[in-house]
Amino acid sequence: MLPFKTPFFAPYIYPRLLWKVKTSEKVIYLTFDDGPIPNLTPWVLDLLNEFEAKATFFCVGENVKKHAEIFHRLLEEGHRVGNHTQHHLNGKKASLEEYLADALACDEAMKAESVSTDLFRPPYGRLTNAQRKQLIQQKTIVMWDVLTQDYDQALDPDLILKRSIAATDKGSVVVFHDNLKAERNLKAVLPEYLSHFKNMGYRFEAL
Ligand SMILES: [Zn+2]
Repeated sequence: MLPFKTPFFAPYIYPRLLWKVKTSEKVIYLTFDDGPIPNLTPWVLDLLNEFEAKATFFCVGENVKKHAEIFHRLLEEGHRVGNHTQHHLNGKKASLEEYLADALACDEAMKAESVSTDLFRPPYGRLTNAQRKQLIQQKTIVMWDVLTQDYDQALDPDLILKRSIAATDKGSVVVFHDNLKAERNLKAVLPEYLSHFKNMGYRFEAL
């Protein structure tokens, strides 16, 4: 199981990847992976509006194509988007050529909507060295320092909330998911998480 808090040594092994933003300000960088989808993304957007929060959405190209209107809503409301491949590929299970072609297909899906992005997040956080070396020439590869594990349906939402709050710090890059697997946990955890940090004087920004 992946840890809630990225091990402290990870940024030393891969210093060119973005793990966390160095800042002394009370700011949190929320990220939402795998959307946009009609069942959940509009709910997330409404909630972010309530908290005057901005976030970064790592979109799957297929979903951009299917749900272009929600994709545009993300941008219109001041959020940022990043590439999360066309078919949510696991880098460790795909050849270099296959992986790069899939990442490019996601860029193309966004271009068809007149949008471009220089942000990339690998699905499952999995990349081979060769894939990483190629992608880093064109993109900022965004990892995270807090993984909420909202997608794990065996986890109790209260535990997710508690651990996510404990793992969050100034400049944290936090992963949530707007996918169906995460729906129950996300709906329970996100409002509480936002409210906790808003009360502590934090603001939420897009990368
Ligand atoms: Zn993903």
